[in-house]
Amino acid sequence: MIQLKGIAAASGISIGPAYILGKEELIVSREAVSWSEIPAQIQLFEEALIQTRREIIELQKRISQDMGQQEAQIFDAHLLVLEDRMLIEEVISRLKKEQLNVAYIFSDVLKKYISVFLEIEDEYLKERAADINDVGKRILRNLLGKKKRGLDEIGVRAIIVAHDISPSDTAAMHTKNVAAFVTDVGGKTSHTAIMAKSLEIPAVVGLEGVTAQVNPGDTLIVDGSTGIVIIDPDNETLASYQQKLEKLKGIADKFLQVKDQAAQTHDNHTVVINANIEFPDEVPSVKLHGGQGIGLYRTEFFYMNRQDSPSEEEHYQAYKYVAQEMNPHPVIIRTLDIGGDKFLSQFKVPHEMQPFLGWRAIRFCLARPDIFKLQLRAILRASVHGNLKLMYPMISGVEELRQANQLLKEAKQELDGNGIKFNDQIEVGVMVEVPSAALTADILAREADFFSIGTNDLIQYALAVDRGNEKVAYLYDPAHPAVLRLIKGIIDSAHQAKIKVAMCGEMAGEPSLALILLGLGLDEFSLPPQVIPELKYVIRAVSFKEIRGFAEKALKLSTGKEVEEFAQKRLEQILG
Ligand code: PEP
Ligand code: MG
Repeated sequence: MIQLKGIAAASGISIGPAYILGKEELIVSREAVSWSEIPAQIQLFEEALIQTRREIIELQKRISQDMGQQEAQIFDAHLLVLEDRMLIEEVISRLKKEQLNVAYIFSDVLKKYISVFLEIEDEYLKERAADINDVGKRILRNLLGKKKRGLDEIGVRAIIVAHDISPSDTAAMHTKNVAAFVTDVGGKTSHTAIMAKSLEIPAVVGLEGVTAQVNPGDTLIVDGSTGIVIIDPDNETLASYQQKLEKLKGIADKFLQVKDQAAQTHDNHTVVINANIEFPDEVPSVKLHGGQGIGLYRTEFFYMNRQDSPSEEEHYQAYKYVAQEMNPHPVIIRTLDIGGDKFLSQFKVPHEMQPFLGWRAIRFCLARPDIFKLQLRAILRASVHGNLKLMYPMISGVEELRQANQLLKEAKQELDGNGIKFNDQIEVGVMVEVPSAALTADILAREADFFSIGTNDLIQYALAVDRGNEKVAYLYDPAHPAVLRLIKGIIDSAHQAKIKVAMCGEMAGEPSLALILLGLGLDEFSLPPQVIPELKYVIRAVSFKEIRGFAEKALKLSTGKEVEEFAQKRLEQILG
C-alpha cells in the first residue's frame, strides 16, 4: 500500500482499478509457453520488429514530406533501436531460459533497459531512453496486435491516471466510464479540474510521479477532497474508505433536504445560488441540486472535440434549449473564452509563451468579429426563449467593454435587418477577473448591467501564480488578503452603482470562504451544481448580522492561512 498526496481538485471518493492513459499498451500478461512453442514465439517477435520498422519508415516518409528531412531524421534513432543486438539477444535468450510468452519477456527487458538509461546522469542517454521507450511501445503493441488505446476503450468504471489531461480530454470523459482521475501535473482551478467538478468526477492533480508509481489495474482510492491517493490499499484502509463513502452520502442527503429552499439567513438576508455549466445536458443536474439559475455557461466547450466550428444555428439551438429549460430563471451565457489552457484547433491560434496573458477571451473575440458576432447573434436569437443574459470574459478596462458592446450593437442591427426578433434589453455583464478591472470596477460599473467575479483568473493574475502549475500551487490562495481586498472593492463599487455582483469562480463554491463573501455582501454565488445544497445549508444556518462582523474580522487578518483557519473553524461549528 502506498499513500500519496496531491492537490485536491474535485471532491468525492472513488475506489476502482487504475487505467493508465498513454501507458496502457504495456499491460502484458505473464504466460508460460512450452518448449515446442518457442520457435513460434521467436517468429512473433521477429514479425513485430519487421512491422515496427515498416511503421517507422512510413512515418518518417510522411514527416519528411510534411515537415522536412531534418525532422524526419529523428526517427533514425528509433530505427537503430530495432537493430540493437543486445536487446534482441537478451529477449531471445531469456525466452529460451524462462519459457514465458515473448510479450512479457520483451516488456520486462524493455523496462530494465529504460531504467538503466534513466539512472545515468547524461542528457544524451536520457534522450535515448525516450527513444527506446517509444519504439519499445510500438513493438509491444505489434506483439499484442493492439492499436493505440484511448478513453473510448475503457470497459469498466476505471480511475484514469495520466501525466496530464487536457480540458478537451476531460470533456470527452463526459460519456465514458471514468470514476476519478489523477494526474502528475495541474492545479486546483485548471479547466481540467473545473470540468471534473462539473462531471462529478473526483480528481487529484499535481501528484508528481504518480504515473510512474501506479500499474494498470492496481486498485486505487482517490479522495478528491483531501488530495489523497492510495495505491493497493490494504483491507482495513479499503473498509475505512468505504465507510467514509457511506458517511459522505449521508451528509449529502442532509444537504439535499434544503436544496429547494431559499438561500436566506436567519435574519432574512437573501442571496441567489446559481450553477456553473459547460454543457446544455447539465441542466437536469442544476435542477436536481436546487440551482436557481445558471450563473456561468462556459460556451467554449461547445467548440471542443470537433474539427469544425459550430454554426450560428447550432449555438442558437443549444442556448435556446438551456433558456427554455431554465425559464423563468436566468441563464448567463459567457461569450467565448478560448486561450489560456483552452485551445481550439479550429482557430489555429499561434503558440504563445504565456497563453494566460496572451490572445485570450475577449481579446481574441474583438480581433475576430466574425466569430464573436456569430455567437452574439445566436445568443440574441435565443434570448426570446427565456431569461438570457450575457457576459464578457477577461475585460481589462472599460474600452474593451465598449468595443464588445459596439459589436453587440452591430449583431443586433444585423438581426433587425433580417427581421429576426430578440430581446433588445438583454442584460450585459462584465466578468471581473483581471486586477485592472477590479481596480477600475467603479468605472466599469457605470456601463455594465452586472458583475460576475471570476476568481479563478483574478487570483492567478493578482498573485502572479499560474492556476494550472502544480509547482506554484501552494501560492494559489483564494484567502490571500490581497484577494479579499480586491473582492471587497469590486462588491462595494457595484453596490455604489446599484448593480448586482455575482461570483462564478471556484471560490464561491468553497463553503468556508463563501461565508466571508456572504458577509462582504456578495449578491449571487455561482458554483458547480453538486455544491449548491451544502452552500444553501450553510447560509441558512447563520445570521447576516453575525456574518458581516465575521467577514470584517477576516479582512483584518494578515495571511491566507489565518483567514482559511478562521473561516474553516466557523464552518465546522455550523456543520457540527
Ligand atoms: C474564473 O476565471 O473564475 C472563471 C469563472 O472563468 P474560467 O474558470 O472559465 O476562466
Ligand atoms: Mg476566467
